[in-house]
Amino acid sequence: MTTNHQVTLALSKGRIFEETVPLLAAAGITPNENPESSRKLIIGTNRPDVRLIIVRATDVPTYVQHGAADLGIAGKDVLVEHGGEGLYQPVDLNIAKCRMMVATPVGFDYEAAVRRGARLRVATKYTKTARLHFAAKGVHVDLIKLYGSMELAPLVGLADVIVDLVSTGGTLKANNLVAVEEIMPISSRLVVNQASMKLKHELIQPIVETFRRAASA
Ligand code: ATP
Ligand code: MG
Repeated sequence: MTTNHQVTLALSKGRIFEETVPLLAAAGITPNENPESSRKLIIGTNRPDVRLIIVRATDVPTYVQHGAADLGIAGKDVLVEHGGEGLYQPVDLNIAKCRMMVATPVGFDYEAAVRRGARLRVATKYTKTARLHFAAKGVHVDLIKLYGSMELAPLVGLADVIVDLVSTGGTLKANNLVAVEEIMPISSRLVVNQASMKLKHELIQPIVETFRRAASA
């Protein structure tokens, strides 16, 4: 864990950082630098007792689980894949909202394939989410792990369907794909290291409460 007089908050660049800035402001926290333009991975704030670390979105739960960060902000998509061990998830921040969906090429009859018990090849970054979803439906799948550009997989015959995050559907449409099933709504959560929550309660609790109020405002 970081020192007892300071809390470390793990964030990812991009939409999570941008949508977190107003929450930080509500807690009286202003970052000293913008991670989009700075190459620094540790960013101080106007508050000597709060610093930020900038990590990949998928790495946020790992830093917090191990106490390298006391707090973090991570999408539910990332938290489901991570498993959430060692983490409290006290607040749904209602930011970075989108949906975890099954998508197929336009014209692929997904419902019919499911009904006749076809074995589906599923390309996704979210293998745990996909495995759980299709197991619950009783659909047999071959999971193909990808790290990005999932939309390509059905177009070149790598997979029948993809599981991916969808917000506007613009990327799907541009690639002649269509969302056919929602797996779960996604938003980002505040996560807290369980030991930090006890040992740094006086520092962390007000931040949790401020984020909770700001998120529901
Ligand atoms: P990279 O895009 O650099 O490979 P990433 O995909 O992990 O990294 P982001 O695209 O910034 O990072 O996504 C971070 C989080 O934001 C995701 O874990 C998810 O919770 C949320 N998110 C992803 N895509 C969208 C979207 N289109 N609309 C809203 N929220 C999204
Ligand atoms: Mg992305």
